[in-house]
Amino acid sequence: MQNKKNFYIDGKWVAPFKSNDFIVTNPSNEEPYVVISLGGSEDTNKAVKAAKNSYVTWKNTTKKERLTLLEKLLEIYNKRSEEMTVAISTELGAPLDWASSAQMASGARHIEDFIKRLKDFKFESDFDEGSDSYITYEPIGVCGLITPWNWPINQIALKVIPALATGCTMVLKPSEIAPLSAMLFAEMIDEAGFPSGVFNLVNGDGAGVGSQLSAHPDIDMISFTGSTRAGKLISKSSADTIKRVCLELGGKGGNIIFKDSYPDAIRDGVRNIMSNSGQSCDAPTRMLVEKSIYERAVKEAADEANKIKVDIASKKGDHIGPVITKIQFDKIQSLIQSGIDEGATLVAGGTGRPKNMDKGYFVKPTVFTDVNNEMRIAKEEIFGPVLSIIPFETEEEAIKITNDSPYGLGNYLQTEDKEKARRVAKQLRAGVVQINGIAPAAGTPFGGYGQSGNGREGGVWGLHEYLEVKTISGWK
Ligand code: NAD
Repeated sequence: MQNKKNFYIDGKWVAPFKSNDFIVTNPSNEEPYVVISLGGSEDTNKAVKAAKNSYVTWKNTTKKERLTLLEKLLEIYNKRSEEMTVAISTELGAPLDWASSAQMASGARHIEDFIKRLKDFKFESDFDEGSDSYITYEPIGVCGLITPWNWPINQIALKVIPALATGCTMVLKPSEIAPLSAMLFAEMIDEAGFPSGVFNLVNGDGAGVGSQLSAHPDIDMISFTGSTRAGKLISKSSADTIKRVCLELGGKGGNIIFKDSYPDAIRDGVRNIMSNSGQSCDAPTRMLVEKSIYERAVKEAADEANKIKVDIASKKGDHIGPVITKIQFDKIQSLIQSGIDEGATLVAGGTGRPKNMDKGYFVKPTVFTDVNNEMRIAKEEIFGPVLSIIPFETEEEAIKITNDSPYGLGNYLQTEDKEKARRVAKQLRAGVVQINGIAPAAGTPFGGYGQSGNGREGGVWGLHEYLEVKTISGWK
């Protein structure tokens, strides 16, 4: 078993103040593979103090100095990309090929894109030509960064890189159930030569280090990605210190398939939800299908789900892996059962593990049809490979059903009619709408409406999250 009990504080790997071991289990075989420590308030305070002490020096570095270090980090990330792939594959149960092409690659893509945005970013400028007022953007200060397990390095890069780029210092608390990629990333930051104290990592759980960071008087901003449940608690515990809170929360994406969609739209929709074993915040988990093609859609969706192979993470290939923990597995099983109990029709998958798999948290790719938007499987974030198909008759009805959710993260729509696509996209209440399966360009903002959060990560919007804006009059 790997020993990863130390934290990275003030440029050194240090033991926790009090020993508090936490053993993490491999989701593919249910065997323990690493022991980490859950930090306590002394560890949190020590890391916050290191970040605070290094803030003024780091804030005053030039853009060029920060760019040089970020470019070095990118070089190291690319050099150690295989280690990163294995770390993510092990902790998440993601098949190696997917862990590399999607998960690991997302980290490099974000570092590259933030380097590009930082190069073009103007930290100060005249307010208006001829005006005596001047505008400056300044790093907000010490940031607490709290991340989830499902896209571990994607979320870490979306926070750590813009925080570094803008001149903030930080304490990262990654998910305690996916610690390997975060600790490897800390090694890379160390190797790149960022000054001590600028970046710190303390492992811990939500009740411990997570809550200590959000309530901490010396933390100026919390950037959190995770469940809406935890987002609410973090907002409350941050309130007394009026810190900025940037939230990236859950989702229940709608995927509207009009009758004039491209031929593979239904099959692509199924693949899209099943990838990462259904554990993506923006997964299109509610497929809305126009009634005139409903029968065909049901057949194709069931057929596609039945074709998806489920297997262990360490195998190469295009299968999906397990879900991350027993808790997630049990939650998914009970939601599949609720779909059956509430009268939805099961056309693929169902409860229990796939055939011949008696170890590991493997879930059958599952498709329900005849779902209505009042059922739990249509309302709640399942976070597993479970698709709900809902019929609709008119464009208005499709928009109404899609928007009838407390969430508003990623929505999707498929039609060959460009005018209709644009009209509908504008009416969907979500931070991202994808038309005809075309992924957003690098550097576009990602975030949610409603209970999916209030932040926007990525690109220039991601830099702004970490900046205060100041007006100085009488400048000239
Ligand atoms: P989670 O909320 O259980 O945990 C996320 C992180 O928050 C972990 O590090 C955890 O230790 C910490 N945490 C938990 N309770 C806390 C508290 N009270 N105070 C401070 N920290 C706390 O979520 P998860 O299960 O790790 O991740 C899955 C969730 O993340 C899903 O809901 C998914 O939709 C969401 N997510 C959202 C995005 C996005 O960009 N909107 C991206 C990925 C995942």
